[in-house]
Amino acid sequence: MTHLAYVALGSNLGERAQNLRAAIAALDALPGTHVNAASSMYVSAAMGADEPQPDYFNGVVGLDTALAPHALLAALQQIEHAAGRTRIAGIRNTARTLDLDLLLFDDLVIADHGLRVPHPLLQDRAFVLLPLLEIAPGCVVPGRGPARDMLPRVASQRIARVAEPAIPA
Ligand code: ADP
Ligand code: MG
Repeated sequence: MTHLAYVALGSNLGERAQNLRAAIAALDALPGTHVNAASSMYVSAAMGADEPQPDYFNGVVGLDTALAPHALLAALQQIEHAAGRTRIAGIRNTARTLDLDLLLFDDLVIADHGLRVPHPLLQDRAFVLLPLLEIAPGCVVPGRGPARDMLPRVASQRIARVAEPAIPA
């Protein structure tokens, strides 16, 4: 059984565009998984950080996957780890080589300790909504309504499109 999932990618350390491209290739290489759509890359200011940080490169991809939600999350965390992401206990929103967030998984609503789907902050972030709507314009967020209706609330966030995506062949 194949599922349709959307994953948000972010990087604000190192070779940011290359980090996103490598992550897309790594997602495409997961068992039973194929990247079927990739947004443009966007650049936006880091949010919620205590100290100034480099801007983020962001994007969203759509996946066909045979993985179950928790298995996909575990795979995302492995890809983050392989990209050199380090977590500092107790400090949130630190700069990172790679952040992979599971936005949507079919029309499932999941609310457990380690995994919340749809992603809780999806509707608050232009850097998620814009690339998501680019590849899934009619997207409906389970329990929350059409994604395009969420655009007004992020209209004040500064974001720019910087590059076309690279989808692995
Ligand atoms: P953030 O993405 O909010 O900056 P992290 O990437 O450090 O923060 O994620 C923190 C935790 O969020 C992870 O350990 C993971 O278990 C949890 N989490 C819950 N729901 C999701 C989701 N939909 N996608 C990714 N991580 C999630
Ligand atoms: Mg994350």
